[in-house]
Amino acid sequence: MKLPRRWRIAILFAAVGVYLLAARTLELRRVALPLPAAAAAIAPAVDGARLLDDVRTLASADFGGRRTGSEGSRKAQAFLQQRFAALGLIPFGAAYAAPFSFTHASIKGLLAHGKAYKTAYPAAANYIGYIAGSARPQHFIVVSAHYDHLGIKDGRLYPGADDNASGVAAMLAIAAWFKDHPPRHTIVFAAFDGEELGLQGARAFLAALPFPKAQLALDLNLDMVSHNDRNEIYVAGTRYTPALAPLVAQAAARNSVNVRLGHDRPQLLTGTVEDWTGASDHGPFHEAGVAFLYFGVEDHADYHAPSDTFAHINPAFFTSVANLLVDVAATLDAHLK
Ligand SMILES: [Zn+2]
Repeated sequence: MKLPRRWRIAILFAAVGVYLLAARTLELRRVALPLPAAAAAIAPAVDGARLLDDVRTLASADFGGRRTGSEGSRKAQAFLQQRFAALGLIPFGAAYAAPFSFTHASIKGLLAHGKAYKTAYPAAANYIGYIAGSARPQHFIVVSAHYDHLGIKDGRLYPGADDNASGVAAMLAIAAWFKDHPPRHTIVFAAFDGEELGLQGARAFLAALPFPKAQLALDLNLDMVSHNDRNEIYVAGTRYTPALAPLVAQAAARNSVNVRLGHDRPQLLTGTVEDWTGASDHGPFHEAGVAFLYFGVEDHADYHAPSDTFAHINPAFFTSVANLLVDVAATLDAHLK
């Protein structure tokens, strides 16, 4: 018996639908059990007031949403310059500022009248400093967070408090901790520009790396770490480097945030659960064969919206996450080769 063509198509669609739903259900079950968390953090304590202050400053209207090349971006750069210097970080190159340029091609520009298809960004800049390692100074752990965001569009400010003033503030908290607890590896603190325009800062950093990529032990990338109502954060990357999972678990067990491993399997396997492997600055590191751990929250209503304000982050959650991240960084430094 031969089914009519219409029927065959309907059965195919139904089968794909059932597969996606089953894959999604299995994936959610796989990540449903968070790593065991402590009732309260027994890990290193970050300066919570400073942490929140840094986010408030970066996400203030004065910084104009920190779009690459804008006046607000330059204010963010002056802020990073001052904070890096106050922490006593050593400039990674001739100065903290590592200028680069790129051209951004916009699909929207191709389709819409009056919008440019290609835009040149001649004056982007990463801000990079480091603390030298005592035992393995030629092996580098990069702690990265992009400081750029969307700026002002159609007269509306996109302050980017969670995305990603929060990651920058957490990165500065990690730097402050290592200043008092000298690391074994050299820890590089990289505030990347141009992430929102195609992970440009991370690409520029890797293209200009002054030593072989094999000396990069890991990229610990922080992007959106302050806003979640369920005390939950995801970490992606352990699927590619399973040896990292027990190290994350060690830190999770000393902290009060629920940590879930996930968002790093192809969507073909996970149904509709997103794969974040290429979603932020850890992507170019992964493409270059460097291990990564990416920490970030599930998308929320304020994601890429004018409402991503300081008032909408969760201060207690964010402080817990910063403590967790300090512990993760310290654990990686203690155990990585
Ligand atoms: Zn981001």
